[in-house]
Amino acid sequence: MKKLILASNNSKKIKEIKEILKDIPLSIKSLKEEGIDIDVVEDGKTFEENSMKKAKEIKEYLLSKGQKDFIVMADDSGLSVDSLNGAPGIYSARYSGEHGNDLENNKKLLRELKDSKNRDAKFVCVISLINDKDKEIVVTGEVAGKITEKLSVEGGFGYDPLFFYEGFNKTFGEATSEEKNSVSHRGVALKKLRDKINEVL
Ligand code: IMP
Repeated sequence: MKKLILASNNSKKIKEIKEILKDIPLSIKSLKEEGIDIDVVEDGKTFEENSMKKAKEIKEYLLSKGQKDFIVMADDSGLSVDSLNGAPGIYSARYSGEHGNDLENNKKLLRELKDSKNRDAKFVCVISLINDKDKEIVVTGEVAGKITEKLSVEGGFGYDPLFFYEGFNKTFGEATSEEKNSVSHRGVALKKLRDKINEVL
């Protein structure tokens, strides 16, 4: 069976990807499971550039090890706020300066939006796939919402506690993971991918 190697070690993402792609005859593996330890520098200017860079660097590594018959999948995602001209965008994980400090990132976002009437925002997820023969697929998923005026819950992933989704009448931080996955930027991108993945099989 062809191998799909995910350029991620995030167990939640991996679980969601496996669930959505479960009917496709692929053996889905994380970088860790494949013994790959590469830290790709995300220095692209867009989500597309960053996700494809990750996929290509891992593809080159696998080819250099003599591997064949594989697909690499990488994603890049973040929050884009209208009145901040798309910020934090590709800098979402390190908006406050420290990579992955969700609470500080959220607090900075609230400061930047202080007194702002327009609180429209969207989460964006770009997924890139490349196979060993250089055939590529890129899909994008988005979900629109509004940034609340204060944190709705303590903890929670990324900007979820501040992302109010009208369809649920609550924030992503208050939604269950099933609810969130059914409408999220990542869920939308993965469903598009499921319909196109034949192109690289
Ligand atoms: P990544 O590219 O998926 O690692 O996401 C980069 C950053 O974007 C994360 O560290 C979060 O700050 C933010 N982000 C991406 N997806 C989500 C989400 O589903 N909820 C909340 N924040 C997210």
